[in-house]
Amino acid sequence: MSQKHVIALHGGAGVNPDRDYAEVEEHLGVLVHVCEAMLADGEDAIDTVEHAVAQMEQSGLYVAGRGSAPNGAGIVECDAAIMDGARLRAGGICAAPGIALPIRAARAVLEHTPYVLLAGEGARAFAIERGMELVEEPDAHYRLPVGVEREETLRLDEGLAHGTVGAVALDRNGALAAATSTGGLLGKRAGRVGDTPITGIGNWADSEVAVSCTGIGEAFIYAGGARTLAAHVALAGESLDQAGQALLHAVARHGGDGGLIAVDRSGTVTMPFNSAGMKRALAGSELQTVVRIL
Ligand code: ASP
Repeated sequence: MSQKHVIALHGGAGVNPDRDYAEVEEHLGVLVHVCEAMLADGEDAIDTVEHAVAQMEQSGLYVAGRGSAPNGAGIVECDAAIMDGARLRAGGICAAPGIALPIRAARAVLEHTPYVLLAGEGARAFAIERGMELVEEPDAHYRLPVGVEREETLRLDEGLAHGTVGAVALDRNGALAAATSTGGLLGKRAGRVGDTPITGIGNWADSEVAVSCTGIGEAFIYAGGARTLAAHVALAGESLDQAGQALLHAVARHGGDGGLIAVDRSGTVTMPFNSAGMKRALAGSELQTVVRIL
């Protein structure tokens, strides 16, 4: 067992400087500490990132899980993906209604099916089959994330308002994992799916790196996404920082903005963004804990 372990979290790209994110900062600070302690105790990276994302989904403080907003048809559809770099196996769900903790359903797809992604009602039927918690009363369950007004969820013409949560980890055995979950774009068209649940785009982990992205999903798809970052490191020999910046430049060239968190097997971390802020946190065995919004 190696000694080094790292956890990085994000609560989505894009921050409004006029809003008070104290509750989000406190939540991220406590959660990153809990996850760091799990890894220090020998917990696997895959279980740690699943726990981290489930906690963020449950909190309702971010645009994921409980904090997701309804789409243009008035229904909350969630996307999530998780990947175990040690086994090179992934699972995801997309455009899925009524699943309380989407990342748990994504993990079940990884563990209990030969598939990578289940969509819509099929994803929900699978979650029911696995005995997962469902959202019986959407009006009582969902709450808008910190500072978001209901009207904002319908202002797609004024720019794409969005949010996501994600976690990447390196465990003491040297295994890497990534998990990402989103309610997507606020007021999105029914059935719209972005980068988050697509393995290799919004989320990726292999034996070298783990990556979780946030931002305008369409631009991340055009830019090649998380696996492109991994290829820049593995094939072009770039540093994690350089590869992260290269991906965000490509996202900008495609008219998007956002950010990402990534960790490699040596424990190096990068958390770049070209959006106005990115809620983020970092902790590890040889690292100073970081919790930042802007
Ligand atoms: N990437 C997400 C999506 O496009 C949104 C976000 O990260 O804020 O669905």
